[in-house]
Amino acid sequence: MNRDRRITREELKIAVHDAYFGLKDNKDGKNADYIPYLASVDKDLFGIAVCLPDGEMITVGDCSYRFGIESISKVATAILVLKDYGSGTLLDMIGADATGMPFNSVLAILLENEHPSTPLVNAGAISAVSMVCPVGNGRGKWDAIVKNIAELCGSEVTLIDELYRSESVSNHNNRAIAWLLKSYNRIYDEPEMSLDLYTRQCSLGVTATQLSIMAGTIACGGYNPTTGKRVFDEIYAEKVTSLLASVGLYEHTGDWMFSCGIPAKSGVSGGIIGVLPGIFGIAVFAPPIDSSGNSVKGQLALKQIMDNLGLHIFNGKRAVMVEEKAVTL
Ligand code: GLN
Repeated sequence: MNRDRRITREELKIAVHDAYFGLKDNKDGKNADYIPYLASVDKDLFGIAVCLPDGEMITVGDCSYRFGIESISKVATAILVLKDYGSGTLLDMIGADATGMPFNSVLAILLENEHPSTPLVNAGAISAVSMVCPVGNGRGKWDAIVKNIAELCGSEVTLIDELYRSESVSNHNNRAIAWLLKSYNRIYDEPEMSLDLYTRQCSLGVTATQLSIMAGTIACGGYNPTTGKRVFDEIYAEKVTSLLASVGLYEHTGDWMFSCGIPAKSGVSGGIIGVLPGIFGIAVFAPPIDSSGNSVKGQLALKQIMDNLGLHIFNGKRAVMVEEKAVTL
């Protein structure tokens, strides 16, 4: 029996456009407002971008609008920690487990035996930032964080100053997390510096196009399809993608993987990336989020595209991109 799921670029393009036009007028969800800047972003912005392994891009809608990367930066910093320390140390010093709780949960740190669980929630991300090299050198760490995100995205990224200021005056919960981690020896650099670097990395401006290239780079085993450069060792792609699959949509990740089947990572600004290994990286931007902080239209768009193409990471079929008109078997 043929287990291939053959899809053409044309089918993929149609699925992306159908999702965009079908969901464009959806008004569900609400912009995050605990960070004042995010509440002021135009709630109707909507863009979908796909990056294919040969560097071809499919984009529709507002894919050039710069928004705060927010929690999607956690994926990049996890990659940096993997590069600096390897996967065994990441597992020991942070963990790779789902918390089943909101992204900013303090309780999760207490319940998980004083462990930050995973670099993809706030606690683990602050811990991950504290590990970024060179430890003890805030300027050097920041340069490493920005360079890594730019390499993953295939082009420069810069801070949205207004967002950084807005986050800095409202991040009391994250400060509590940083100091709680300190008391458990799970912060590996100065806590206030680690908190500030975490806040800054969340405030970096990116576009949906750039994020799809980051997702595409992970889908291509660390090779950036648009720059032709290797950003991280192939052995880490499966580690990063596993983190996405276990906790990328926080407490709803199980439901998400069950119903949609693409490892994904969201951010409260309305960005979401999806990684389908070897096939494509995708990013959606639409600011209104649900109660867990996941973009409403982003989730719907990814689900619709995956369903339309008959894709699910666990369906036992090998997705193959073909050039000619596909015969669906
Ligand atoms: N900067 C945000 C915070 O720390 C990021 C959260 C998110 O995107 N889920 O709360």
